[in-house]
Amino acid sequence: MNESSLSRQSADQKGSGFSVDRIDLVRTLHDLNSIELDCNKRPTELEFLRCRLRQRLPAEILAIHEKLIAEGRRSVAPRFANACTECSGEVVVAGGAKRIAGMFVQCPHCGTLLYG
Ligand SMILES: [Zn+2]
Repeated sequence: MNESSLSRQSADQKGSGFSVDRIDLVRTLHDLNSIELDCNKRPTELEFLRCRLRQRLPAEILAIHEKLIAEGRRSVAPRFANACTECSGEVVVAGGAKRIAGMFVQCPHCGTLLYG
């Protein structure tokens, strides 16, 4: 845990930046998927980037991500027309449903973190 980067992050947040953070979280997960799934041998630079990206994820997201990656699957996908775009299973989300990190639902069929 890096104290100085944490305090700098919170100083950058001005309340209205929340939606930007959400997009950032999706991008971070996509980047991590590319690094962890598509490369068998990672050069040092990529390993460094991977660590930095992981530090940006909330613990509950990281735990789910690690489990899916360990199974060789992508951890994040968009939800489209009430379906998971990863496994095509139906995913209906009630309006008041609890979302992981305020934005994701986990696909009940394949476990992928879905946004949208
Ligand atoms: Zn699914």
